[in-house]
Amino acid sequence: ELRTPLTIIKGNLDNIDKGFAGEVQPQQKDILGDVFRVINRLSRLINDLLDLSKIESGKMELNKESLDIVTLAGETVKTFETLAGSKKIGLIKEFPNKRVTVNADKDKLTQVFINLMGNAIKFTDKGNVVVRIIDLQKEAQVEIQDTGPGIPLDQVDKIFDKFVRVVAEKKEGTGLGLPIAKDIIVLHKGRIRVESESGKGSRFIFVIPK
Ligand code: ADP
Repeated sequence: ELRTPLTIIKGNLDNIDKGFAGEVQPQQKDILGDVFRVINRLSRLINDLLDLSKIESGKMELNKESLDIVTLAGETVKTFETLAGSKKIGLIKEFPNKRVTVNADKDKLTQVFINLMGNAIKFTDKGNVVVRIIDLQKEAQVEIQDTGPGIPLDQVDKIFDKFVRVVAEKKEGTGLGLPIAKDIIVLHKGRIRVESESGKGSRFIFVIPK
């Protein structure tokens, strides 16, 4: 009920934008561009809300399989290379030379990497983002560390709550990325936390059982 009307609105706007309903003047194109941006934002918000309500109502099921978290992390890093490059931010992999196999849902775990790496790159304006994997005995530990603004000490405990956004930040977002990441990790019987201080960058750390 939320996604379908949006898809229809987008499709119809797209048809207008492509000129199927008559020639589009430059000023009209500008307005359409603004509308597209707002609709895309709304669509991200709706997708995040639906994901979260699915998890919280206990309806999200994990399709667990045995997978190499090093390969999975490497694939996600690759998808962020262009974005990091355009911001002139280094994207550094610190991975073990061997496979680290965990029992996890590939799509959901990918979502966690996307949310954490997306934030790290979004909030960092210079320096680098390190993605580190540590092979612990019974768990795999993942760290995503950045040289961004960090999170004020009094906000650190709240950062995984819904809709919490550090007010000083004007970057686009829904405030739902971290709660979703946390729920997914907890569903996997893992743990997630952040080490951060204002001005010193952030390090998000999660562990997931093998
Ligand atoms: P969003 O990124 O959509 O705002 P999140 O739930 O992913 O929502 O993050 C919540 C808030 O936590 C962000 O708005 C930002 O203030 C803070 N935050 C998350 N990741 C970082 C980071 N790597 N560096 C600094 N602040 C961060």
